[in-house]
Amino acid sequence: MPMEIELGPAAAEFRAEVREWLHENRPDDPEAVRSQLIGGGPEHDAWAARLHDAGFLCVGWPKEYGGRGLSGIEVAVMNEEFGRAGIPRVTRAMGEWLVGPSIIVHGTDEQKAYFLPRIVDGTDRYCQGFSEPDAGSDLAGLKTRGVVDGDEIVVTGQKVWTSGAHRANMMFCLCRTDPDAPKHRGISYVLLPMKQSDGSSNGFELRPIRQITGNSNFSETFITEARAPLFNVIGGLHNGWRVTMTTLGNERGGNATTQHVQYEHQFERIVDEARRCGVTGDARVRQQLAWAFTRVEIMRYAGLRTLSEVVARKEPGPAASINKMFWSEYARDVSDLMMNLRGPESLIRPEGEGYALDRWQTEFLASRSGTIWGGTAQVQRNIVGERVLGLPKEPDTELGGRSR
Ligand SMILES: Cc1cc2nc3c(=O)[nH]c(=O)nc-3n(C[C@H](O)[C@H](O)[C@H](O)COP(=O)(O)OP(=O)(O)OC[C@H]3O[C@@H](n4cnc5c(N)ncnc54)[C@H](O)[C@@H]3O)c2cc1C
Repeated sequence: MPMEIELGPAAAEFRAEVREWLHENRPDDPEAVRSQLIGGGPEHDAWAARLHDAGFLCVGWPKEYGGRGLSGIEVAVMNEEFGRAGIPRVTRAMGEWLVGPSIIVHGTDEQKAYFLPRIVDGTDRYCQGFSEPDAGSDLAGLKTRGVVDGDEIVVTGQKVWTSGAHRANMMFCLCRTDPDAPKHRGISYVLLPMKQSDGSSNGFELRPIRQITGNSNFSETFITEARAPLFNVIGGLHNGWRVTMTTLGNERGGNATTQHVQYEHQFERIVDEARRCGVTGDARVRQQLAWAFTRVEIMRYAGLRTLSEVVARKEPGPAASINKMFWSEYARDVSDLMMNLRGPESLIRPEGEGYALDRWQTEFLASRSGTIWGGTAQVQRNIVGERVLGLPKEPDTELGGRSR
């Protein structure tokens, strides 16, 4: 167990409080909750309800909007305690870590008062409608249209890779509202209800896409004349790119302070597995384990650096790209290591219905996507090159692609 950094008496007191609560309230089957983290399910939902009742959701948000008003240090302490206890810290997913923080920065007081408490209590469950068939890395090339009709906006277009759309009832959606403006300037950021008040679809059709893990957690999303009040436009009409930058900054760097905790846990499991397989004396395996341990430690130190930025109340900047690039490439490479370490066992699927995989196989396959979603590793390198190192911009872009 790595040394705990002293964060002061208030943080220590809060740490003790969280630890005690977790000790008394831990879910009966944390693994069942964990296995439902992406697709959802009864154990996940029951645990989310318990966390909500105890005030452990959206904890960094202001109290007046349903949060707990915790400081950046307290949020990090809480994440650490959940992680070290091996208990999944269920959140309100994209509502909590992407759209909520963007509303806090760019929404009006009325928008904050209306939308934020609905995320906290689970009324609104969001999915992200950014990517389109021809607009992924080059996100500002999106073609979905938004037309103002009286006091409503009417949205038509196609999105793709929409994670969790089947569980969502709201989409934070980017659409082009001024086709004549330069491509980054004519975009609006709309909170689109996916259903009408009578329960019928608000012009949404979802076509699930099967993933290599066997799950279908994302979809192609076809939107035909979906309506929302103009009140649901965040940051003002045609001004959605600024809001998008806040959302993407949180997607890249939001968890940076405690990213290491899950990998510390995974590392302990890897060492146990290496012992079980009897390969800890193998010179190559020992080299690889030392490699992995070193990277988890680097993530821990990088987390502390980020924590000091959080304390200084800096918004996630371009350095968040370093975090996204580092953990996603590590997660991919360490799962390759695991497959090799377990040898032929890695290739044998467990007994079970349908597309059964064991935990290691699932981690291996799922880790392929980390270097793609939220902006690819190549795009993160472009950001580091241009915005951190000050190298010349890519020749054919004005402000660049998805994640600038
Ligand atoms: C598991 C998963 C979940 C996702 N969930 C969502 C979601 O919920 N909502 C949503 O909107 N999107 C989602 N996405 C989509 C994701 O954001 C895009 O896949 C990603 O931004 C890349 O876009 P693309 O797939 O169109 O690839 P492209 O942009 O076509 O890129 C193809 C390749 O070219 C490289 N490339 C492109 N441009 C450059 C450049 N300028 N410099 C160097 N290399 C470049 C890329 O790195 C990549 O290797 C998800 C993706 C995955 C894998």
